[in-house]
Amino acid sequence: MTQGWDALDTELALWTEQGLHLPFWWRDDDAVAPSPALTRLEDLAARMEMPVHLAIIPRDATPELAAKVTQSAHLLPVVHGWAHKNHAPAAQKKCEFGSTRPIDLTLEEAEAGLTRLKELFGPRLIPMFVPPWNRVSSALLPWLAGLDYAMLSTYGPRKREHIAPGLTQINTHLDPIDWHGSRSLRDEEELLAGLVEILRARRTGSQDNDEPLGLLTHHLEHDDAIWRFCETLIARLLAGPAQPWRSNDKDMRI
Ligand SMILES: [Zn+2]
Repeated sequence: MTQGWDALDTELALWTEQGLHLPFWWRDDDAVAPSPALTRLEDLAARMEMPVHLAIIPRDATPELAAKVTQSAHLLPVVHGWAHKNHAPAAQKKCEFGSTRPIDLTLEEAEAGLTRLKELFGPRLIPMFVPPWNRVSSALLPWLAGLDYAMLSTYGPRKREHIAPGLTQINTHLDPIDWHGSRSLRDEEELLAGLVEILRARRTGSQDNDEPLGLLTHHLEHDDAIWRFCETLIARLLAGPAQPWRSNDKDMRI
C-alpha cells in the first residue's frame, strides 16, 4: 500500500475514534445497455453490499438494460439527461442542459428523460436528474421539481441542500478517471490526498457532512487499475465510518 492509503486509514481512524459517521453513495454514469462491464459493476456492488445509482441515458436505454437492472437489488436507476448530446458552443465546456438553448426545449427533454425511463423501469426509477457532464443551467432548476424530479446530482461539494423548491442536491465528489490524460486511473497519491482533505474538512465541520460523499464512476471506461482502486476504496470506507446511502424518494421529498 502507498502513503496515500496510509493517510486515508489514519483519517478514517480519527472518524471512528470520534464516533462519526460518513454517509457514502455511489453513482455510475452512461449506461444504455447490458455489457460485461455492467455485470462487473453489479458483481462488485453485490460483493460490497453497496448500491450503485446507475445514471442511464434515456434516449438510448434498451429494454434489455431494464431487465438487467430490475433483477438486481444493487442497481438503482436514475436519469442521465436525455441523449447525452453536447449543445454548447465550440469554445465552451460540454453541456446538454445549458443556457444556450430555449428553456422550453431543455425542459421538454428533461421531462422526456423521466417519462422514457419510467416506462422502462416503473416505480423502481429514482427521480434524480443527473445532467451529462455534471452541468446544468441554473434557470432550469426551479422547474425540475414541477416535472416530478426530487433530486439533482452534479459534481463537487454542494452549496446548499435545497437547490430549488422541492429539489434536493446530492453531488459526487471523487472521480478516479484521468479524463484529460491517460483515461486510466488518476495519480493515486493525488486522488487519495484530495479525498483525505475532503474527509478532514467534513470531520472538522468546514464542509457539509450531511451531504452523502459521492464516488463517481463510468463502468464502460474502466480498466483493471480503476476497478481495483474502486474496490479497495469502497472496502476501506465501509470497514471504517462509511454507511451506504441510498436515495429514497419518500424521504427526500420536502
Ligand atoms: Zn455522462
